[in-house]
Amino acid sequence: MRVWRDVREPLFAGVLWSALALACVALRDGLGAALLIWLPSGVAVAAFHSVPVNRWPLLAAVMYPIQAVTVWWISGSVQQAVVYSFATLLQSVIAAQLGYMALGGRHEIPRRFGQVAGLFAAALLGSLAGAVVAIPFRPVQSLDEFMWWFFANVLAIQTLVPIMLVIRMNLGKRGLVQFLAFARKIRPFMLGTAIFTIVALQVSEIVLMPLMFALIVLATVRYGQIASLLVVLMYVAIATIISILQETPTPSIQASAAEGTLILQSWLLAMLATVLPIAAMLLKRRELQRELVKRNEEMHNSLIMFTLAEDTANMGRWYLNLRTGEQDWSPNMLEMNGLSRSLAPDPGDVTNRLPDGGEELFRQIAANRRNTEPYSFTYRIKPINQLERILRIAIRNEFDDEGQRFAVLGVALDVTEQVRREEALELARGRAMQLASEAQKLANTDPLTQLPNRRCTFDRLESMIVMAEDGGTPLSVILFDVDHFKAVNDGYGHQVGDAVLQEMADLARKQVRQGDIVGRIGGEEFVWLVPGAQSKVARQLAERLRECVEEGTSASSLPKVTISVGLAHFRSGDTGQSLMARADAALYAAKDNGRNQVKRAA
Ligand code: GH3
Ligand code: MG
Ligand code: MG
Repeated sequence: MRVWRDVREPLFAGVLWSALALACVALRDGLGAALLIWLPSGVAVAAFHSVPVNRWPLLAAVMYPIQAVTVWWISGSVQQAVVYSFATLLQSVIAAQLGYMALGGRHEIPRRFGQVAGLFAAALLGSLAGAVVAIPFRPVQSLDEFMWWFFANVLAIQTLVPIMLVIRMNLGKRGLVQFLAFARKIRPFMLGTAIFTIVALQVSEIVLMPLMFALIVLATVRYGQIASLLVVLMYVAIATIISILQETPTPSIQASAAEGTLILQSWLLAMLATVLPIAAMLLKRRELQRELVKRNEEMHNSLIMFTLAEDTANMGRWYLNLRTGEQDWSPNMLEMNGLSRSLAPDPGDVTNRLPDGGEELFRQIAANRRNTEPYSFTYRIKPINQLERILRIAIRNEFDDEGQRFAVLGVALDVTEQVRREEALELARGRAMQLASEAQKLANTDPLTQLPNRRCTFDRLESMIVMAEDGGTPLSVILFDVDHFKAVNDGYGHQVGDAVLQEMADLARKQVRQGDIVGRIGGEEFVWLVPGAQSKVARQLAERLRECVEEGTSASSLPKVTISVGLAHFRSGDTGQSLMARADAALYAAKDNGRNQVKRAA
């Protein structure tokens, strides 16, 4: 089964080759008339084009015996059978291989001038090789004979191969229907060709041939390569019939049948050489057109999508050609900038129309003259009778080959609400921070004296203890209490008592050094935390404070008061509580000892 599948095609090609060869020889030799085209060559080359290269040996192996038997049948000569079959196979392989290379390794319809020229060269070289091998073994070895062989084969390869390949590609019912529709379309051309050929060859070939030529070019332009090749084949058929009937294909010219054949063959080759490049060019053009239409459609769709996206995102689009001043504003962009949507796409002199003359916008664009990366900035615009807007625009500069900027493309977004929200948020955050810090201060401050309150003072004491424990720095606590304060309250009233407490705070504040803390920890009880001072220094500080209070209050208009002071030094292992307890004990000792004095804890 597989063998049959592989052999089927070569067998068909061989049989078709034989049938056409027999027909051609019958026309040429049987009636003694000239033949313009050696049709079997077209079949052979088409066969090589339609099977993969690795199956060429099989194709040759099947075709060769069939060809040899056919030629032997025709000529009765074993030598001719061997040589001619070899010549036609050699010719087919050369034409097919070179043609395949000319098409760039693909089997396709030629679309470029180079491909057409390459296929022509392949046909010429293949036919030349075939003629060179075969002619020495012909009964007659003239130049005419050589030229006939050469031209007839080139023509067959040029006209028949594309037609056969198209037929092979479109095998099947649909292909047949298409082919019939195509044949119907080109019927006028075929008919015209037939009439022209008959008249031209009979009457005066030279005068009417250009019309024939025009017909073929027209068929090419209108219906493409295959149409023109079919027209050429029609021409060949009519010319062959005439040559059979009248013993020469060109009765109007005083020439022998052989010469007449060569003239017509050269004429046909010239026509093909003209028409095939045109066909290729037209094909290419049609392809480009199709591509262009497709691209246009894609672009159109993209633009619709973009406009939709623009509307959804409430974005604006802007293009400005800096050389020509040409602009393209999308309706959204105009509206954002406080202009009427109906001005799109070209609002004209924008500088006059934009609320601030576009000052901010154009200043930024000028500043980014050399920016090759997209850049963005926000600008504010205040349209007349409208609220200020904030627009964020992303811009890309377009540069020419010399690196000169010639256009800008921008996409803008109205960020007014967003910016306002952010600004409000920032404001609220600032206010909240301030409130928090005020609250914190309030929570830590004694309202009467503005000194750190008890909690704050004890917090600071704890952290000072950590530092003293870890860093080995000395720490002293000076605890002081107003003597007989109840008497002040009782004697002068509570308000005066308060004023005395404030005076106490002021006096203490004046004594403290940087890094010290003095806090009010009870009604008329204060503490002075002295980090970094040796016990001797702390004692001096405590003494000085006591003196200051005594002197300070006696100099003021308020009642004179004194303080008793308890002094304690940090010892390793102390907590805030234990340290304060020792200072408290010292304070009591000072009170017991007659007040207005400093006592140091044991
Ligand atoms: P001592 O010498 O023993 O300390 O005698 P003292 O009178 O100061 O005794 P005590 O500590 O018992 O009395 C403190 C008084 O301070 C009692 C209270 O009425 C008064 N006091 C506490 N806080 C305030 C305040 O904020 N303002 C005023 N005006 N008086 C206060
Ligand atoms: Mg007291
Ligand atoms: Mg007290």
